[in-house]
Amino acid sequence: MDADVIVVGAGLAGLVAAHELTSRGRRVALVDQEGPADLGGQAYWSFGGLFMVDSPEQRRLGIKDSFDLAWNDWRGSARFDRLEDEDSWAVRWARAYVEFAAGEKRSWLQSHGITLLPTVGWAERGDLRADGHGNSVPRFHIAWGTGTGVVEPFVRYAEQAARDGLLTFHHRHRVDELVIENGAARGVRGTLLAPDDTPRGVASNREETGTFELTAQAVIVATGGIGANQDAVRRHWPARLGTPPATMVTGVPAYVDGRMLDISAKAGVRLVNRDRMWHYTEGVRNWNPIWPGHGIRILAGPSSVWLDALGRRLPDPCLPGYDTLSTLRYLRTTDDLVEHDHSWFVLTRKIVEKEFALSGSEQNPDITAKDRRAVLRDRLFGKGAPGPVRDFLRHGADFVIADTLERLVEKMNALTDRPLLDAAEVRRQIEARDLQLANPYGKDAQIQGIRNARRYLGDRLGRVAAPHRILDPAAGPLIGVKLHILTRKTLGGIQTDLDSRALGADGQVIDGLYAAGEVAGFGGGGVHGYNALEGTFLGGCLFSGRAAGRHAARQTA
Ligand SMILES: Cc1cc2nc3c(=O)[nH]c(=O)nc-3n(C[C@H](O)[C@H](O)[C@H](O)COP(=O)(O)OP(=O)(O)OC[C@H]3O[C@@H](n4cnc5c(N)ncnc54)[C@H](O)[C@@H]3O)c2cc1C
Repeated sequence: MDADVIVVGAGLAGLVAAHELTSRGRRVALVDQEGPADLGGQAYWSFGGLFMVDSPEQRRLGIKDSFDLAWNDWRGSARFDRLEDEDSWAVRWARAYVEFAAGEKRSWLQSHGITLLPTVGWAERGDLRADGHGNSVPRFHIAWGTGTGVVEPFVRYAEQAARDGLLTFHHRHRVDELVIENGAARGVRGTLLAPDDTPRGVASNREETGTFELTAQAVIVATGGIGANQDAVRRHWPARLGTPPATMVTGVPAYVDGRMLDISAKAGVRLVNRDRMWHYTEGVRNWNPIWPGHGIRILAGPSSVWLDALGRRLPDPCLPGYDTLSTLRYLRTTDDLVEHDHSWFVLTRKIVEKEFALSGSEQNPDITAKDRRAVLRDRLFGKGAPGPVRDFLRHGADFVIADTLERLVEKMNALTDRPLLDAAEVRRQIEARDLQLANPYGKDAQIQGIRNARRYLGDRLGRVAAPHRILDPAAGPLIGVKLHILTRKTLGGIQTDLDSRALGADGQVIDGLYAAGEVAGFGGGGVHGYNALEGTFLGGCLFSGRAAGRHAARQTA
């Protein structure tokens, strides 16, 4: 045997599993199709948002959260409806995960040196129903160091275990086959890829130089989702979300190719909920791309006016930062919109300065570098938009700026094949919206939402601009942003039990086979159900990777 356990995938889930194993003295073969530069996978690039419930950070900001409230929100978002079958383990994972987020998660993170910013963000504000989708309260905690800081200790542990002779890195080893004999996992076979010294995140070569086979008592599959494989995204696109867009931007590196899902199915592993995905509607083309088709997600505060491709304001709950999939569904199922793949934000300088954040570790260099002084200086007391946002305003192909609405619409129209927006109609709607600001109450749901958000200290201080007229020249200039659909997360995958043991097509555990992280739908084959509450993906990798590593260590004792 080449190791006690083979871990396929050196992203966050695989690294956490590897740590659980090596810290219990097991020998691990860590196999990845990429080279050492990409250790840590997507987590390295991630923003580091972590869903947590009733934390000291929340309490300090006056947020009253509880397991009951969070579990109500989770169920309202997930809407599990395949309980006898595909959701049977997912719903148990969901409950266990919310318990983890309300309990041990924070101290466990701390035990690995991962700490949190004092602010708590309010992601996925929801669909405006008490029993519907969304977070009733802010829960999006950000790790110091962003996702880079979350994955860093686990990279360090793997490197130390390699020095101690407990872990062997098998870089540039692409797994093509799971070896399952007599109902038990025995190893993997695959292709050796030529060495490649491209920097982290850049697509590497696929030149094949040979084959390999590794054997062990157990195999943990932790190979991520399908987000970089737009063909697969379109193939699994569910009818309820209409037709997939002809053009999308890609929110993940090229190695998030989803191959391992089909390879697992071929080996008799049970895949479930493949129609559930989590793609964003606020993607912009990266002016400085790292991977092919690289898009960045805008994490928008609630104030931008959101227009469809034909210049009509989106109906609630399709508001910035509220309800990702309702917005996606609206854009992809409205008859006269489906031929267009974009929508628009119209906003002011004041809004961009206070409300625009960009997802990704490289877009938040101050937090990634754990530079507390820079965070305070630029985000809380700073004037103007953060540097990376300014770069997009200056260089981003999807950003236009103008002093008047008519000039702005002219520039927006220049970004489509033919002019689709009527300046007079855009003006009419924005003026109607602006009239709603005369009183501290009114009938516009978005303005009500802005006022509601500002009752939360964290939003008022750092995230939500004071309500103002979009057409107030003092708030200008005006900004238009062309938004694309951005591929990101896979919510379904390999069905697993609560120990991350993979199930076979017959619904029975396959001895010695585990799945963790995104490839397992972050646990159980779909812990999120249909909708995510955000910041739940990194945590899902930690929780399911930990479960896989712990059980595999017991099994190989
Ligand atoms: C820009 C960005 C921002 C994000 N922000 C957040 C956030 O704020 N909060 C949050 O919770 N989540 C966030 N996420 C999502 C989160 O980072 C990912 O879902 C998570 O890191 C996935 O980890 P993983 O270990 O499951 O898979 P991955 O990180 O994708 O790792 C899988 C590894 O498996 C390897 N692999 C795949 N197939 C094979 C094969 N056949 N043979 C060998 N190796 C293979 C790949 O090369 C890769 O290294 C973000 C993601 C991105 C890209």
